[in-house]
Amino acid sequence: MKQEVRDRLIEGAAALGIALDTAKMQQVESLSILLQDANQQLNLTALQDEEEIAVKHFLDSWTCSTLIDRSGRLVDIGAGAGFPGLALKIIHPDLEVTLVEAVQKKVRFIDTCIKTLNLKGAQVVIGRAEELGRLPKWRESFDFATCRAVGHLALIAEYCIPLLKVNGYLIAQKGKEGLKETKEAEEGIKLLGGQVQDIHRISLPGLEGHCLIRIKKNTKTPERFPRRTGIPRKRPLVSKEWASSLRKSMLK
Ligand code: SAM
Repeated sequence: MKQEVRDRLIEGAAALGIALDTAKMQQVESLSILLQDANQQLNLTALQDEEEIAVKHFLDSWTCSTLIDRSGRLVDIGAGAGFPGLALKIIHPDLEVTLVEAVQKKVRFIDTCIKTLNLKGAQVVIGRAEELGRLPKWRESFDFATCRAVGHLALIAEYCIPLLKVNGYLIAQKGKEGLKETKEAEEGIKLLGGQVQDIHRISLPGLEGHCLIRIKKNTKTPERFPRRTGIPRKRPLVSKEWASSLRKSMLK
């Protein structure tokens, strides 16, 4: 990795309150190389060069670190090539991280990264979030959920909130659309047992316009959520009419 890219990572991390020691930096460099090599064959991510990977994968993932504890159980939904989950595991080694991904070639890549970097307490699970959310093994078992670039906030909420324990948090990484989606998804989030706590704007160079939407789970998620596979994406809990008619039918 070029020294200027390393410096940018160290400075960005410091701005987020993260100290990147030599061991962590080595893991970051190894993951960056694995990603660049695999990308040539598997087309895993649109980001190609090490500077883009440094800023748009690592620093962007680390913005979540200010809102999560250093230990506990975190699930990353729709992890793709492993972000933000793997990047968060590197800086918080005591965090137990489960990455959930539906596409096999991406799962295989994440598994290779976990083994190569020797990330103890990290695992990847192949599957769909809405299916895992119905299984007793996973439902209401995580302290934190992260999710980046998977879809509308209402969709993300239905994927993630059922997996959270009561008092757990969903940290949704969003761009400029974050505020609008928060308004649209607010009622659906309540139906799922959650509440928008706050929105954090990111001001790091290269990540302008990004924000983190923090949602707290206040009560257990009703049994009927998540709905069956494909429905959350087809009919996300956005429109007011849809949300209120659902609430009425739940009260019957
Ligand atoms: N989070 C990564 C990132 O920001 O680099 C990947 C984002 S990628 C655009 C979205 C990923 O979500 C894809 O890899 C896709 O396979 C996965 N995905 C979409 N719906 C999913 C679901 N219901 N359950 C699990 N993974 C899902």
